[in-house]
Amino acid sequence: MNAYKSLLPVDEDGYYGRFGGAYIPEILHKNVENLLEAFHRYVDDEEFNKEFDQLLRDYVGRPSPLYRANRLSELYGTNIYLKREDLNHTGAHKINSAIGSALLAKRMGKHRIIAETGAGQHGVATATVCALMGMECVVYMGATDVERQQPNVERMRMLGAKVEPVHSGNKTLKDATNEAIRDWCCNPDSFYIIGSTVGPHPYPEMVAHFQSVISREIKEQLRSQIGHENPDYVVACVGGGSNAAGAFYHFINSPGVKLIAAEAAGLGVDTGETAATISVGTEGIIHGARTLVMQTPDGQIIEPYSVSAGLDYPGIGPLHAFLASSGRAEVIAVTDREALDAAFRLTRVEGIIPALESAHALAILDKKRFSHDDIVVINVSGRGDKDMHTYLKYQD
Ligand SMILES: *Cc1c(COP(=O)(O)O)cnc(C)c1O
Repeated sequence: MNAYKSLLPVDEDGYYGRFGGAYIPEILHKNVENLLEAFHRYVDDEEFNKEFDQLLRDYVGRPSPLYRANRLSELYGTNIYLKREDLNHTGAHKINSAIGSALLAKRMGKHRIIAETGAGQHGVATATVCALMGMECVVYMGATDVERQQPNVERMRMLGAKVEPVHSGNKTLKDATNEAIRDWCCNPDSFYIIGSTVGPHPYPEMVAHFQSVISREIKEQLRSQIGHENPDYVVACVGGGSNAAGAFYHFINSPGVKLIAAEAAGLGVDTGETAATISVGTEGIIHGARTLVMQTPDGQIIEPYSVSAGLDYPGIGPLHAFLASSGRAEVIAVTDREALDAAFRLTRVEGIIPALESAHALAILDKKRFSHDDIVVINVSGRGDKDMHTYLKYQD
């Protein structure tokens, strides 16, 4: 179509090996095709990227620091660098792709944005960029989640978004997503912002592209701090996979850089109370993509469980299904307890309270041995303010 070439192992139809693609109802074909066309048209456009970079710098506060955690490094006998996405405006990485997506929506002449949200983090990021750009914002959220996540609901409303509680099914993320897709079918003039590297092609590729600023910065920061741009390890948590995709992006084709994805084991991968999709999932279709899915033998989605709302998803982005199955990434399942311990440790040793999601990545330090000259970069995807009530409950 044009000169744009993704650095991801993805083909023209959005397949990462046998994962990905676009499994959508006929009525959405035109919407998805228009999106793909717009993405290819603007991804290398100078004006577009200038506006995107400027907002990442002046609004989000990028580059986020790459911080050598000295006391943590000493404790684990290795060299630990924390990529501080927790310091972004709104407190996590999600704002990066929300801004990229909203800029694309603006270029496409859209004024109405739809989104779905589970814990509310993606809803808040979307409501934020809609306020920033003067766009109408409708966020679908399961009625159960609306009750559980009141502070984020209030935040979205204060930002001017309309929060639509969804009363079907389990009244959680899956049901909110169905409702958002239904809205998109009826309102093709709206733009659907997805919060992770999931959904039909080109969403996984597009979201990974907007998040790739994370690894682009890591390379520059390592070059200036240690004199070379490749670490030995990059570690990130995976829910749908967007912060991991951003942290891995520019290293995927450098086999010397080992990639580790931490998924949420909940109470344990074999307990039935888990969100470790890569460990226990089987191939299926969810939200328009072929990937690994937590499902019964006859294809019913199994409700996932994790103490961390942001990792509580029964699928996984097709990129990560591929990286795991091809052996490019190592996947380690981290239990609630291991993540909580890692969060308390980081807080006490470095004075940083991480998001519960990010704590799953930090817990890798207790599960894998690194040598004293390894350079280990851990993506701290978000800050822990939103998780204080959970931390207080589990504090010894
Ligand atoms: C939403 C969220 C995640 C999980 O989403 P990914 O798409 O897998 O990155 C991780 N960390 C934080 C702080 C989040 O808000």
